[in-house]
Amino acid sequence: MAGGVTARRRFIAALLAAGLVAAACTSGGDDGEVSASGDAEATVTDDGQDGKAAAGDEGGSSGGGGSSGGGDGGSGDSTSGDGSVPPPTSPPPSGPSIDPAGSTGSYAPAYLRSAPATSIVIEVLTQDGATLRSDSLEHARSRLGQAAGKPVDTSGGTVASSDREWTADEIRAASDASSGVAHTRERAVLRLLLLRGRAAGEGGERVLGMAVRGDTIAIFVDQVEGAGNPLLGVGAARIEKAVTLHEVGHLLGLVDIVLNTGREDPEHPGHSRNEDSVMYWAIESSLVAELLGGGPPVEFDDADRRDLATIAAS
Ligand SMILES: [Zn+2]
Repeated sequence: MAGGVTARRRFIAALLAAGLVAAACTSGGDDGEVSASGDAEATVTDDGQDGKAAAGDEGGSSGGGGSSGGGDGGSGDSTSGDGSVPPPTSPPPSGPSIDPAGSTGSYAPAYLRSAPATSIVIEVLTQDGATLRSDSLEHARSRLGQAAGKPVDTSGGTVASSDREWTADEIRAASDASSGVAHTRERAVLRLLLLRGRAAGEGGERVLGMAVRGDTIAIFVDQVEGAGNPLLGVGAARIEKAVTLHEVGHLLGLVDIVLNTGREDPEHPGHSRNEDSVMYWAIESSLVAELLGGGPPVEFDDADRRDLATIAAS
């Protein structure tokens, strides 16, 4: 197997060199440039790492204060001008403010803490023609319930759109337009959008899923179906199961989105370095079958579970 691993690493290295991987992984869609990182994953990172207003960018939603303005500046710096959000000098005691409309990870404490929310609802919002295997949903529901220690129900709804190319903004808008289950003090809602087509922007066709906000993730079901590779023995069912839990994991604050353990993959912020964790970056890339020979992992690893417990107890 060593040979296989070596070959795989070489392949990854080649992809990295070609800039393919980074694009696939961080593409938040949006307005192209900034490789969309401004949004999904990168947003995440920003938050976790330096607590700055982070990418909520345009939404400007949470914390921000910051200029948020420029389409360009975005991610790069933590200093940004008005300094209304000073960089923390120690790990944030409780992470970002608890806000379903904030950046990814901002609602993790609501899902994971025992109170005040005593139950969770996964609201599956489906675009016409999109489906999710019951096994994928059940797996995510089960692991979310284990991590949160509270009952997790599911409900369904419809995304009324014929869009086939999605920016993070459009996904957030669809989330709000489609949802029929309100967040309440006692009930935290996790919105799971099943979308046709692909993420917008360069490399968007390689994105299998995205976490775009504190309470919202999207799975690009067409891309997931296309990512299976029978020749490599990796089916779409397994990829779907993995990517669904992966995106849920982001909403729960993994990896280092809420905490600051230093264990995230520096080349793929918000992700685990462990190929055996469902939070490994390649899980949400259409290259997953090629990159993870035996098929993607479908479980959190011990370090992930430890982080979830830490957030739950925070
Ligand atoms: Zn990810």
